[in-house]
Amino acid sequence: MTGRKAAFLDRDGVINVDHGYVVDPASLDFIEGAAAAIRRLNEAGYLVVVVTNQSGVARGYFTEADVERFHDHLRERLAAAGAHIDAIYTAPHHPDGVIAAYRGDHPDRKPRPGMVLRAFADLGIARSGSFLVGDKPSDVAAAEAAGIPGHLFAGGDLDVFMTGVLAAAAEDPASKGDR
Ligand SMILES: [Mg+2]
Repeated sequence: MTGRKAAFLDRDGVINVDHGYVVDPASLDFIEGAAAAIRRLNEAGYLVVVVTNQSGVARGYFTEADVERFHDHLRERLAAAGAHIDAIYTAPHHPDGVIAAYRGDHPDRKPRPGMVLRAFADLGIARSGSFLVGDKPSDVAAAEAAGIPGHLFAGGDLDVFMTGVLAAAAEDPASKGDR
């Protein structure tokens, strides 16, 4: 099977500014260049897959439905900028969660690779040519555990950063087979 390549993106601190437990649609502030970066990925043929830890669900700060509402708003705002996300995976768990159903060290919670591995299977994604961008070492660890490169975004303009990531991917012999 020849799968499609995917760009996995962390959410908070990569797509939207991480104000801490962001869930109110009114508090969606894009990282500079985020919509342009996602549009660039769309046009380059990548599936764009968001993988986000949302321990606020386990902590009882908000519900999965609240997270879904925020993601609906995120998709609308991106659509207005000509960009789209193909899938969003959320890990609502945390070992210290107060909501029993979400308490524990779930395989989906980064640095574990569960969300990435599920997306591979669900969407027919090829490891070759795929990568992840996150703003924390746990994001990079999840990527490496899933067998794809992880790039640490330290802030600034995401579109500028993504241009460099895509140039590096184009130079990677491991990705040539999919091109
Ligand atoms: Mg983050």
